[in-house]
Amino acid sequence: MARNPGNLIRLRRRLHSLAEPSGREEATAAFVAAQLASCGPDLLLTGLGGHGVLAEFRGPADGATVLIRAELDALPIPETLDLDHASFTPGIAHKCGHDGHMAALLGVADRLGRRRPPRGRAWLLFQPAEETGAGAEAVLADERFSGLQPDWVFALHNLPGYPLGAVVVAPGTFCAASCGLDITLTGRTSHAAYPEQGLSPDRAMAELVLDLINLPDHLPGDDHLALVTVVHSRLGEAAFGVTPARAEILATVRADQDDILAQLKNAAADRTRVVAGRYGLDHRISWPEYFPAVVNDPAAVALVRSAAGNLGLDCTAPAESPLRWSEDFGRLMALGRGALFGLGSGPGQPPLHAEDYDFNDAVLPGAVALLHAICLAACAEKP
Ligand SMILES: [Zn+2]
Ligand SMILES: [Zn+2]
Repeated sequence: MARNPGNLIRLRRRLHSLAEPSGREEATAAFVAAQLASCGPDLLLTGLGGHGVLAEFRGPADGATVLIRAELDALPIPETLDLDHASFTPGIAHKCGHDGHMAALLGVADRLGRRRPPRGRAWLLFQPAEETGAGAEAVLADERFSGLQPDWVFALHNLPGYPLGAVVVAPGTFCAASCGLDITLTGRTSHAAYPEQGLSPDRAMAELVLDLINLPDHLPGDDHLALVTVVHSRLGEAAFGVTPARAEILATVRADQDDILAQLKNAAADRTRVVAGRYGLDHRISWPEYFPAVVNDPAAVALVRSAAGNLGLDCTAPAESPLRWSEDFGRLMALGRGALFGLGSGPGQPPLHAEDYDFNDAVLPGAVALLHAICLAACAEKP
């Protein structure tokens, strides 16, 4: 399969063209499962928590169990680049590099298929729905997964802007916690000529949008990341004759610690209650897409640094600490000692989730070598 870099690049580009949205990764998972099967794993599970796939490679001697994760899903961002391997799926493309992470982990499977770890067990997990924060939780809830207890868990993410091949890792909080906030305010319609006969949520909505954005200013202490980003709002219908009855505000709440996130959520819920109450509106709040903070274990970080050093790769701390984005790997880290780390994809590369982003294939050889080295070192070492 992936015996040389050319094959790895072909694999990555094939996965890029298969791009599928979170939770609907049928073709991608089938392709990954077929590639894994060709490596002759000791166990191959499919349909984990949706479309998740897990391959086990078992060594002849006892050791530790190591889980390494890649992600199956693409993003609802259209393909604007003119690529030979462009996405087949309208409006969906791999703009976070999960195609590259999958190709790298398939490269590791190829190595383990030909030579098992001398001891311990390696589990290569291709999880669904990372971008919505639902996939890791669904895999954990799958009864076939619930009996599995890894000692170590690792995942890699490509990081544009960092030097090519630089390993970006640090102990402690690596990625922020975040949560969606979905607020609905409900009053009643009237003729637009008689707004006083209806109950429009217009003023409440305008107040709340500002209140939410300013919420972090009112938290005690200013040395933490705390951020509310209003991402969408909608008032009434596009009808000039009707006073609106309904408003919706969507925001993302983000913090560097889970307890700071909880404080922000409580404050947002309080503000919503107060403002809706003042205008006599009904309100409803929900919290979709929760990502706990990713907190790297010091022993797992030491293992990554040591493997990187043996390969001659430079290690560096992230430019911001923690990184502001979130990752649902935080849920898998609860299973064992774990680390999420970055691998630089070059200073001139477009950022993650940008329309002109495409995974830099030059990252692949280093990614395979590093993941494989971490896997073997961790398999040999009970934490
Ligand atoms: Zn992403
Ligand atoms: Zn990603």
